[in-house]
Amino acid sequence: TYVVLENCIACKHMDCVEVCPVDCFYEGENMLVIHPDECIDCGVCEPECPADAIRPDTEPDVEQWVEMNRKYAEIW
Ligand code: SF4
Repeated sequence: TYVVLENCIACKHMDCVEVCPVDCFYEGENMLVIHPDECIDCGVCEPECPADAIRPDTEPDVEQWVEMNRKYAEIW
């Protein structure tokens, strides 16, 4: 899965949402999150993010963010 990190906070661009083929972004008041069970790992959102906030979960130290994305994707 891909995951949204804290750089997303207060970024108002929605380019990532527009390119996602499975519509797995969820919008809160201050940031977006990706539902990790819905993301198909296509990677097209990553280069669209002007805040460099989207990463694959294969990167180190993003595990806590995957759980945060899951939690809020289910609430929002
Ligand atoms: Fe959507 Fe693909 Fe990004 Fe996953 S990697 S959030 S499926 S655009």
